[in-house]
Amino acid sequence: MFMTPAPESESPLHRTTLAQLDSIAERLNLEPGIHERLRYPRRALTVSIPVLMDHGRTEVFIGYRVHHDTVLGASKGGLRYDPSVNLDEVTALAMLMTWKCALMGLPYGGAKGGVRCAPRQMSAREREALTRRYTVEIMPLIGPDLDIPAPDLGTDEQTMAWMMDTYSMTQGRSVPGVVTGKPLIIGGSHGRREATGRGIVSVLHQAAHHLGHEVSGKRVVIQGFGNVGSVVARLLWDDGCKIVGVGDVNGGIWNGDGLDVLKLQAHVKESGSVVGLPGAEPISNADLIEQACGLLVPAAVGSQIHEGNADRVKAALIIEGANGPTTAEADAILHERGVRVIPDVLANAGGVVVSYFEWVQGLQHHFWRESEVISRLQEIMTRAVDRVWATAESEKVTLRAAALMEGIGRVAEAHRIRGLYP
Ligand code: NAD
Repeated sequence: MFMTPAPESESPLHRTTLAQLDSIAERLNLEPGIHERLRYPRRALTVSIPVLMDHGRTEVFIGYRVHHDTVLGASKGGLRYDPSVNLDEVTALAMLMTWKCALMGLPYGGAKGGVRCAPRQMSAREREALTRRYTVEIMPLIGPDLDIPAPDLGTDEQTMAWMMDTYSMTQGRSVPGVVTGKPLIIGGSHGRREATGRGIVSVLHQAAHHLGHEVSGKRVVIQGFGNVGSVVARLLWDDGCKIVGVGDVNGGIWNGDGLDVLKLQAHVKESGSVVGLPGAEPISNADLIEQACGLLVPAAVGSQIHEGNADRVKAALIIEGANGPTTAEADAILHERGVRVIPDVLANAGGVVVSYFEWVQGLQHHFWRESEVISRLQEIMTRAVDRVWATAESEKVTLRAAALMEGIGRVAEAHRIRGLYP
């Protein structure tokens, strides 16, 4: 089933991404034809996924795969398992991937996938069945030269291994290039698991350099303690920051003297949540966002900083680990209040950069050492921060506007030069 989302979307993230595109299109003076094309996904597939559950009945889940734009190459983007997944949100996330890949100079367009489900309440067997059937249902849209999924919220290396195996079985040969974020043994890359968090920390160091700040000694609040948030916590702790507050889907914890991140990681491994860490006070996720701190890292779900709380956010600096954690209204309020926001398309791009490294290594059958992956990642992230900073200063715009001007500008230029088929 092919669908086009209505412009009057119900998803706050979709409304935010469309508003961002419209404002950058005006600033860049984009031709109306190109601007209009970029407001819609190139294609969007909705699938139903029947799964025989452990209780013996079949349940049907709804899944999506959206290609937003492919003018720069095969499309790339994560796969999300979450109860909040809907077509408009997946479309918005695919659009953000288009701008992110273009900003980072990667030969990719933007895509995203999602299945509306509660992965933590499913057994491993149920998640495997869901993943394999979803992979078969979106088969016409994926492939190493067509669209390459990766992990996102609620999915991980194991999910990618099941997708790679399912795709490979239908082709009669191993096709590792169909996904990235795979385990090392089947063609993954060193450093991919930590790449998004490591990229965020590289961006932060370079931003601190521009701001004349020290990273060490900052008091940090992190919402989300999964692949992204836990790596950021560990690396910033190693850099001498105080991690004073952390939250996950079950709630938050707080210790004004700083949490011991090693103990926190062990507690999460054992209990499955940050909640209940001895020596920390409980705090709600809503209160966590509003706590006084030097740095706030939203690294969970979208639209967490909104019109209703933006004027109570006390952080001096926000770096967006999550995709779309700040609504357009909140962005304007924060800007007015002088709170710097390092935007998602720049801050969390380390994941797709190392996914690109994984894809390139796989295509060449030649694998790099971890130190090589890390130094290439840091170089790309640092250069991107410098470019975005320079644009923000010369054009007198926010970092988000500067990053989007470069990303959207490159995509628009490619459309202009390729022309409109037929
Ligand atoms: P994950 O599933 O590994 O972890 C998500 C964390 O967020 C968990 O701690 C979970 O409990 C928490 N969480 C989920 N729903 C929440 C809610 N409603 N309120 C508070 N906390 C909640 O996911 P991840 O890979 O760490 O992704 C986190 C964010 O980073 C997402 O927005 C994702 O799109 C973005 N991102 C991820 C990558 C990547 O490589 N994994 C790359 C770029 C951006």
